[in-house]
Amino acid sequence: MEAEELLKELAVTMLGDEVLPVLEILLKGKSELTDDEIARMLNVKVNNVRRTLYMLADHGLVRYKRTRDRETGWYLYYWRANTDQVNEILLNRKREMVQKLKMRLEFETNNTFYICPEDGSRYIFDEAFENEFKCPRCGTSLVYYEVERVREVIERKIRQLEEEINVETKSNFG
Ligand SMILES: [Zn+2]
Repeated sequence: MEAEELLKELAVTMLGDEVLPVLEILLKGKSELTDDEIARMLNVKVNNVRRTLYMLADHGLVRYKRTRDRETGWYLYYWRANTDQVNEILLNRKREMVQKLKMRLEFETNNTFYICPEDGSRYIFDEAFENEFKCPRCGTSLVYYEVERVREVIERKIRQLEEEINVETKSNFG
């Protein structure tokens, strides 16, 4: 997939459709634009444009260059899309996913679970104990829940992501 399309897709996944107009203007222009210029082009308030730009920057999707206007003394921010860093953004996302999965794995490993056979809701031991091993939703007796298979799925996913990260890190910098 082309870097521009990938960047847009990432933006929508992370932040939703509403950031697209601003990002598309930056992608189309291929040059740096100030928040004022973008606001004028989109005919929206500059504050809204700024908020979107900061959200995009938080996720590494855009970046800015700051310069001081000699006449007014104000700072001007020139924004551009991070099309050239899309691989790095993807890698960071994968690294974050691995972190989350490892935390999840730790949670699964350190807890005992009980499940309601009726509605599938799941409780850690303390919750099940407090409710006398009855489902708080429907009253059905809870049964012990085997986490081994869940752990295997998480571990497999972690291994797969770590392999991808390895390969991509090498190809990015090799
Ligand atoms: Zn239930």
